Amino acid sequence: MQTFFTPEQLENPKLAVADEILRKCVHCGFCTATCPTYVLLGDENDSPRGRIYLMKEMLEQGRPASAQDVLHIDRCLSCLSCMTTCPSGVNYMHLVDQAREHVEETYRRPLFERLMRNTLAFVMPRPRLFRLSLMAARVAKLLGPLTSGRVKAALDLAPATLPRPMAEGRPGTYPAHGPRKGRVALLQGCVQGVLAPEINAATIRLLNHLGYEVVVNGGEACCGSLTHHMGKEQDALARARRMIEGWSALDAEAIIITASGCGTTVKDYGFLFRGEPALAQQAAAVSAKACDISEFLARLQLPPGKGRGRVAYHAACSLQHGQQVKTLPQQLLRQAGYEVVEPQDAHLCCGSAGTYNILQPELSAQLRGRKSASLDVLGAAVIATGNIGCITQLQAATAAPVRHITELLAEAYL
Ligand code: SF4
Ligand code: SF4
Repeated sequence: MQTFFTPEQLENPKLAVADEILRKCVHCGFCTATCPTYVLLGDENDSPRGRIYLMKEMLEQGRPASAQDVLHIDRCLSCLSCMTTCPSGVNYMHLVDQAREHVEETYRRPLFERLMRNTLAFVMPRPRLFRLSLMAARVAKLLGPLTSGRVKAALDLAPATLPRPMAEGRPGTYPAHGPRKGRVALLQGCVQGVLAPEINAATIRLLNHLGYEVVVNGGEACCGSLTHHMGKEQDALARARRMIEGWSALDAEAIIITASGCGTTVKDYGFLFRGEPALAQQAAAVSAKACDISEFLARLQLPPGKGRGRVAYHAACSLQHGQQVKTLPQQLLRQAGYEVVEPQDAHLCCGSAGTYNILQPELSAQLRGRKSASLDVLGAAVIATGNIGCITQLQAATAAPVRHITELLAEAYL
């Protein structure tokens, strides 16, 4: 794609990156077929190619984002299915991240929307506050028939009961059982720790059983992914900076992440801090050590496990497209003894996408309906996935329990 940034604009490192990305796009349109919003809406502006054009115009002209730009950029799930499909290697993720930041800086949203987004960005990365808000949501659910739109979507997603906080998973060092084979760090996480503390607890038990000491850092719980995807860059970078400082002080061979949405961001820290000489090297080192739990377990070549029954595997977009981890979770589940089946539309998003299911409730509900139907038809006793967002999203639409793959692996090996 031809671009027309001026030499002065290209002195801005962010615009130089955007220019490099845009020039790789050859307008072929292969990406449109696998874009969930294009599949649903059939509008070129809601396809990757259409959005790339919109973002190019907006950034090239150096103008504030228009309502039209915001409409189509907001509808993008950042599922990154387009990156998997693109034959030209267009880094859509870095482009849309930059566009979201530009929107946040130059566009004044309507008051209610601003309030909603700012509240989500403030509450969700803070586990205690998030827990309190979920307790309040249980009461507010009684007003259910009086609510609509985004408020209703947020209340619908709040679980009817909240799990009790668990001791396992809190900051601390969890020693290996038997001779120590290694030492790893585990991301504490913000939303997941409140909604499903059993995921990190199962991960710690499994890793300890396999001979690994696990360290969970105190201090910052959130990796910055949530606000990063909302274009709130300063908040995201501040959180990421604290995570990098905490992890760099540890002597851990790997940084293990059990929420793939977070993993995609942590693996990108090296890029996010490339312009900060004091932190660039540390950030790159953290990214190099970061791995999804399935990647780490696959290195250990586990023996056959005692898992039984049919499991439907739902591939989280952040894992299959964001991190290109496409087969390891299924291989691990099979090795553990489970029969694994996958839906025909495995490449398509379930509509969770961070805060998307609250901010874009109609599109999100359509994607959830499609995905839960294609999973239910597989007739599995349980649905397994690798991201808390997908777990919450799908559990609201299916009777089958939706669980993290680590929980199933822990049951098969412990
Ligand atoms: S990230 Fe997903 S929703 Fe956004 S343009 Fe790419 S495929 Fe479409
Ligand atoms: S597939 Fe890649 S090169 Fe083709 S239009 Fe989409 S982003 Fe551009």
